[in-house]
Amino acid sequence: MAVSESSKVSIRNAHVINKGIVDLSIEDGKITEFSEAGLKPPFEKEYDVNGWLLLPAMAEPHAHLDKALTADIVPNPSGELMGAINAWIAAAEKGTFTFENTVERATQAMELLVTRGVTAVRTHVNVTAEIGISSLEALSKAKEKFVDVLDVQVVALMNSPMTGSDSQGNTSALNSAIEYGIDLVGGCPHLEPDPKKMISFMLGVAEEAGLGIDFHVDETLNSEMLTLRELALQVIDTGFPYPVSASHCVSLGMQSEETQALISRLVSDAGISVFTLPQTNLYLQGREHQEAMPRGLTAIKALIDNRVLVAAGADNVRDPFNLMGRSDPLETAALMVMAGHQSIEDAFEMVSTNAREAMGLSPASLRQGDLADMVAINAPSLGAAMADAPMSRRVFKAGKLVASSDQHSTLHKSL
Ligand SMILES: [Zn+2]
Repeated sequence: MAVSESSKVSIRNAHVINKGIVDLSIEDGKITEFSEAGLKPPFEKEYDVNGWLLLPAMAEPHAHLDKALTADIVPNPSGELMGAINAWIAAAEKGTFTFENTVERATQAMELLVTRGVTAVRTHVNVTAEIGISSLEALSKAKEKFVDVLDVQVVALMNSPMTGSDSQGNTSALNSAIEYGIDLVGGCPHLEPDPKKMISFMLGVAEEAGLGIDFHVDETLNSEMLTLRELALQVIDTGFPYPVSASHCVSLGMQSEETQALISRLVSDAGISVFTLPQTNLYLQGREHQEAMPRGLTAIKALIDNRVLVAAGADNVRDPFNLMGRSDPLETAALMVMAGHQSIEDAFEMVSTNAREAMGLSPASLRQGDLADMVAINAPSLGAAMADAPMSRRVFKAGKLVASSDQHSTLHKSL
């Protein structure tokens, strides 16, 4: 049943932070009212969440669903970024990835996200001269199964080089991707032979296609590599009219505080949102620094101090770029507390409301009038939800129940 066909829904006995235990009325997928629990007459359709904590649904702003869940078949012995890239290419050349198994893994990764409480995801998908748009086609097939359950934005992740004499295959793959249908244009300026030229070229192509940009930016601890500055300058100079996101921005964290502030102001002026991706950064970065090992996260404080919209994502999940990951943004949020030094509340915003805003989605912040995308979780507080991440959850998309999980434990001991 399409969400728009459902009329009135009630969520009963929800623990809403600063409101206590309340009932929610939902109409046409949006929250219309919070009322004292038990006060309203029965609704035709209602869900009792038994006093569980009700939170805004989470959003995953940076995933690689075409690569997800391959860690056991694509080893990356070096544990570094180039090791992961080379391992992926070698496996692809051996025919490890088929259309069918890519659809299957992407579907499984989407299911994991939804059951955890994610109702929107942005995924990068490899588009190269060698594989063309085959992974995009697989992603589309998987996406079809999640209509009205999970909003999926697809970024064409372009291979290098995108400019120069060897770029023909990649640029024609990008044209095919645009023709096929994508939501955003992506790539890695810091891996390009001429980052400035590549940024200029990609902004031009994206503007002509009417698409936003989401680049992997400066995924390196090398402080000399700072293409984020160039990206911000070009966005400002050209007045690029569509949304721009910069994912990773690792090397910004290696600059002096003065430089971090300067670049953050430019990024803010350009209206670029930044996605910090602690899991993959902590896994891939820093192996060459055995003394005083950097965390590899971007300059979160400088960005926030300069009013840049910062969201947090998981990036890779159980693949050669990140061996771990539970597809649970509460895991990312916990890392934002531990490794990113954010408060519990700010960390949760980064994986929910900030992520939605940066993805250009309508608000689902648990306020009257907002979209009723929500997750109820069996935890007494936000901090407890983040620390324990219990898998007793109910997930709602536009007021419709889309996933239920119940975790049961029994302790066997004599009294
Ligand atoms: Zn990525």
